[in-house]
Amino acid sequence: MMLPASLDEAVAALSAMPAAVPVAGGTDLMAAVNKGQLRPAGLVGLGRINETRGWQYQDGNALLGAGLTHARMGRPDFAALIPALAASARAAGPPQIRNAGTLGGNIVTASPTGDTLPVLAALEAELLISGPTGTREIPVSHLLAGREILGPGELIGFVRVPLLHAPQVFLKATGRTGPGRATASVAVVLDPARRGVRCAVGAIAPMPLRPLEAERWIASLIDWDGERGLAAEALTAFGEYVAAACIPDPVAADGQEPPALPPAVLHLRRTVAALARRALGRALS
Ligand SMILES: Cc1cc2nc3c(=O)[nH]c(=O)nc-3n(C[C@H](O)[C@H](O)[C@H](O)COP(=O)(O)OP(=O)(O)OC[C@H]3O[C@@H](n4cnc5c(N)ncnc54)[C@H](O)[C@@H]3O)c2cc1C
Repeated sequence: MMLPASLDEAVAALSAMPAAVPVAGGTDLMAAVNKGQLRPAGLVGLGRINETRGWQYQDGNALLGAGLTHARMGRPDFAALIPALAASARAAGPPQIRNAGTLGGNIVTASPTGDTLPVLAALEAELLISGPTGTREIPVSHLLAGREILGPGELIGFVRVPLLHAPQVFLKATGRTGPGRATASVAVVLDPARRGVRCAVGAIAPMPLRPLEAERWIASLIDWDGERGLAAEALTAFGEYVAAACIPDPVAADGQEPPALPPAVLHLRRTVAALARRALGRALS
């Protein structure tokens, strides 16, 4: 295993050995190796790259190192900057996983149940990719949707997140899907400067879903210069709008009644509605 000390060295190591795989905390990668799903020809360990283990400020944004662990993001100083990302990091698995697992690993694994992913989608985060030809930037949603892939020798170096200085909430429902894995999750982010509400729903589809019309509708009801509160009925309607946008009603065949949603799907829809209602209520309280 190679252990480069900088991003440049890691890119060079991966370029010199294209069959090698980068490993950060190893919580996903080693699980795949142990299950026999992956047999990497070599490993490039990212754990000694200090430049990606913290964050820095840049023009109203935070530039988060891909090597930030969930445990680090869960600490109070980080929570004061990006509360929803801190909440998602605190919810990501048991302590030993949070101590090792990283932001970059969560993004590249791109599991539907990746807890940071709906938050990054709601924040409209951008990825700074380091590779043999330099650095390029892509919206996180493009990578999660498979519209962009990491090329040979490319690594996520940093994640750029806007600092919005306003309430944000991440809520997660868990079931029997594994150790603390989400059955549904919701991130709600307020953006007072743009008078916007941004919301993303995780775990119910291969990538986080953005209910854009529900976002615009609810943002138009908020008194951005005043109290910012909303009536209970509006919060409930937002929850249902979000849930119906993400889990639409079945379409009726010509001249027939639409079929009912299966009970499990109906339950999931109610869960999403409740999470979205509560998340917005907390953000506005
Ligand atoms: C028991 C258990 C419980 C878990 N619970 C949760 C949970 O509740 N919520 C949740 O979200 N996740 C959970 N996970 C999944 C996992 O911990 C996270 O996805 C974690 O963030 C992965 O980070 P890592 O550093 O360990 O990634 P690694 O395992 O090191 O790498 C994962 C993938 O990302 C690639 N990679 C890593 N860093 C980079 C980089 N900078 N650039 C390019 N490629 C990179 C690797 O090559 C690999 O393909 C759980 C895992 C386990 C084993």
